[in-house]
Amino acid sequence: MIVERVWVGNSLRNYNYLVACEETGEALAIDPLAHEECLRIARRRGFEITQVLNTHEHTDHVAGNDHVVAATGAEVIAHTRAKIPGVDRRVGAGAHVQVGKTVTLECMDTPGHTMSHICLLARDGEAALFSGDALFNAGAGNCRNGGDPEALYETFAQQLEPLESTVRLYPGHDYLVANLKFTLDREPGNAAATEMLGYVEGLDGDDSPILTIGQEKEINTFFRLGSREVVSGVCRALDGLPVAPTAKQVFVSLRTLRDRW
Ligand SMILES: [Zn+2]
Repeated sequence: MIVERVWVGNSLRNYNYLVACEETGEALAIDPLAHEECLRIARRRGFEITQVLNTHEHTDHVAGNDHVVAATGAEVIAHTRAKIPGVDRRVGAGAHVQVGKTVTLECMDTPGHTMSHICLLARDGEAALFSGDALFNAGAGNCRNGGDPEALYETFAQQLEPLESTVRLYPGHDYLVANLKFTLDREPGNAAATEMLGYVEGLDGDDSPILTIGQEKEINTFFRLGSREVVSGVCRALDGLPVAPTAKQVFVSLRTLRDRW
C-alpha cells in the first residue's frame, strides 16, 4: 500500500490522501478537496484514481469530488446516510474497499463528529487508519455540525481504543500543536505530550509526523479518561459532575472544554 498524504495548506488545515496499489497503480482518493494537487500527484506517480471516498459530508471533505470524477471517471463511495450528491456506492460497517490487487480497506461506521462518518482501516502490511474527523492527532473531532459527543465517546471506546498500538493514523486535519496544548492544559504532567510539542511546534502540516494509536494513547487526552489529573481537572472546570464521573462523562466534558478552549 502506497499512501500519499496531501497537505492542503488552507485555514482548516485539511489533509487529503491517495492510497494506491503498488502492483497496479490504481488509487483511492480520500476527501480530495485539493483536487488539482491530488490529480497532479497521481499523474506524477503514475496512479490511476478509480475511486473517491468521503469520510463524511462536510463541504471541506466533498467539494473536490466533481473535479476528480470529471478528470478520472472515478466511482464515489460514502456512508449509507451521508448527504453527498453523486455517490455511486454506499457503505456501512464491515464493507470493503478494494484498491487494485494489494490494498483492502475495511469500512468502520464511526459516528460522533457527524452521524454518518466512515473511517477506513488497512489491516494488511503496515496497518493504518484513515480517521477523517473522528480522531485527530492528539484530539477528537468536534460535534457542533451534526454530531453528538456521546456517540463519539462510543466510537472511541468500542472501535478506536481496541485498535492495535502499531496502527498508523492518517487524520482529516492537522491540529496536532493546538491539540497537544489542550492535552497539556488538562494534564500538565504529561511528559510524552511535552516532548512531542517540543518536536512539532512550528512545523507545517506538510512536515507533521505520522503517529500511531500507541502514541495517541499517551498524548491524546480523549484516550486518557482514567488519568486522575484529567478527571480532577474536568470536575474543577465544569459544574454538575459527580465525584467519580464515568468515562463517558469525562469524554463529553473534555469535548465541551475543547469547544470553549
Ligand atoms: Zn468535518
